[in-house]
Amino acid sequence: MSPTAAKWRSALARVTTVDKETHDTFTLSLEPADGQTLETFAPGQFSMLYVFGVSELPISISGDPQEDGRLTYTVRSVGRATQALVSRQPGQTLRVRSPFGRPWPLEAARGKDVLIVAGGIGLAPLRSVIYHVLRHREDYVRLMVLYGARSPTDLLYRKQLAQWARLPDTQILTTVDYGGTSWRGQVGVVTTLFRHLRLHSAQTVAFICGPEIMMRYVTRQLAARGLPESQIYLSMERNMKCAVGFCGRCQLGPYFVCKDGPIFSYEEMRPWLDRHEL
Ligand SMILES: Cc1cc2nc3c(=O)[nH]c(=O)nc-3n(C[C@H](O)[C@H](O)[C@H](O)COP(=O)(O)OP(=O)(O)OC[C@H]3O[C@@H](n4cnc5c(N)ncnc54)[C@H](O)[C@@H]3O)c2cc1C
Repeated sequence: MSPTAAKWRSALARVTTVDKETHDTFTLSLEPADGQTLETFAPGQFSMLYVFGVSELPISISGDPQEDGRLTYTVRSVGRATQALVSRQPGQTLRVRSPFGRPWPLEAARGKDVLIVAGGIGLAPLRSVIYHVLRHREDYVRLMVLYGARSPTDLLYRKQLAQWARLPDTQILTTVDYGGTSWRGQVGVVTTLFRHLRLHSAQTVAFICGPEIMMRYVTRQLAARGLPESQIYLSMERNMKCAVGFCGRCQLGPYFVCKDGPIFSYEEMRPWLDRHEL
């Protein structure tokens, strides 16, 4: 894949909605403020969101790429900046620098099955792929989504997952680490869902996002099932500040995650995925 030239722009945006997804995760929609415009994006790209007086942080765009003029993000509150972000109220403003990064290579998946494997908040940057595939259904064969979360109450987009599961040529499988007494679904790590898949390896492109340990196991298992490394892509996450390859904060081996990623092929990432603390 060749790096995407960043044509980003900085704009003031107003929060229109804040929807609670789980106890710690919220989906925010932004519209342009003061007559400015928000740049369009490709699935997998991210924005730098500046919460005034707090911090600027990278967040993937989780909405529909064809949603006009708006940007949507799903944010898990894990610290000061994310807590400030999810506490914004409709009407408040943020500064948005966007879009950044290399998107998911949807061209490589044309005419093939699309396999999405996500863990936790990792479904957020993949939801825009799902929207894209569903809008361009004739360009892809089957859509398969394997999604794992810690518990049933940590599953994102539950209503949407149920709606998508009813669509033709679409398979949605979920699993949780701990089910509790009322959960009737699958329990176990996301790779336990592989046994429910009919994988046509040569005809499948896989997009993966989640904790690195999960991506390590998923990529290995897909490769062992005959999926060529060049047809497996993953989204990497590193702390970053500038988002344009200057500050070096997000260096990962020979790459800067902000501009060479966040989406990488398994071919590119394999030597670095197996090294700890990089
Ligand atoms: C390209 C990209 C896209 C992202 N997309 C999303 C998204 O869609 N939704 C979302 O909720 N989050 C996303 N993140 C992560 C988000 O940017 C961080 O959670 C946020 O910057 C943490 O800031 P904080 O001040 O809230 O927490 P901090 O106080 O900075 O950190 C809280 C905890 O999280 C850890 N942490 C912080 N940032 C990272 C990181 N980048 N990688 C690994 N561990 C980290 C810290 O070590 C600490 O343990 C993305 C990150 C990147 C690089």
